[in-house]
Amino acid sequence: MTITLTADDRTIQAREGSSVLSACLLAGIYIPHLCWLEADAPADAPAACRLCFVEIDGFREPVAACAVTVENGMTIRTGTEAVRSLQKTALKLLLSVHRVDCKHCPANKACQLQNIAKFLGTGLACKPFERVLKEPEVDSRHPVWDYYPNRCVLCGICVRVCPQHHPHSLLSFARRGFETVVGYFDVDPVAAADCVSCRACLESCPTGALVQRTAGKG
Ligand code: SF4
Ligand code: SF4
Repeated sequence: MTITLTADDRTIQAREGSSVLSACLLAGIYIPHLCWLEADAPADAPAACRLCFVEIDGFREPVAACAVTVENGMTIRTGTEAVRSLQKTALKLLLSVHRVDCKHCPANKACQLQNIAKFLGTGLACKPFERVLKEPEVDSRHPVWDYYPNRCVLCGICVRVCPQHHPHSLLSFARRGFETVVGYFDVDPVAAADCVSCRACLESCPTGALVQRTAGKG
């Protein structure tokens, strides 16, 4: 069933059960986001990046658009001052744990973080937050690709796309809090051979955190 709602003074249509983020993006209304996949249902939305804030009539405060289901007659505003302020803070927090070295990054010019920083007009600085980075800079335990924790925004997309291509997921989050990283369960040669032909995680990563070593990038 199709639902009608208003976003930024435009009347748009959305599929019943879809998220506000999905409805706006599919209608050509951009909302900054890093962790969303089109297949995500609002109930399963990770709401990890905290970038997709919007204001919705009837809600006391801005909400993550990925986690709210569309309703008939809903009125959404995606670019208010409060929304932009929250998005800028969320981006700066992400950048406070990020090694910004675009010149040497394989994602340069194709990076979602760069695009969002440009959209919000903030650049890639993290002020007033202090920048804190993880050690080591690169995890090379996987036979095929390298993982750069200081380029990872912990969006979880790689973790969610992996089981769509394998009988079981080879990836998972490991550790907690600031130390959280993407880890992998299975690095035997059979799994590695699968990874060479699959590349789903590398191709869906919004930054340069996963780099195929055999391609000589990084
Ligand atoms: S992941 Fe993006 S923002 Fe970070 S260094 Fe690479 S290109 Fe720059
Ligand atoms: S490696 Fe890439 S896709 Fe995976 S969590 Fe980090 S930024 Fe997201």
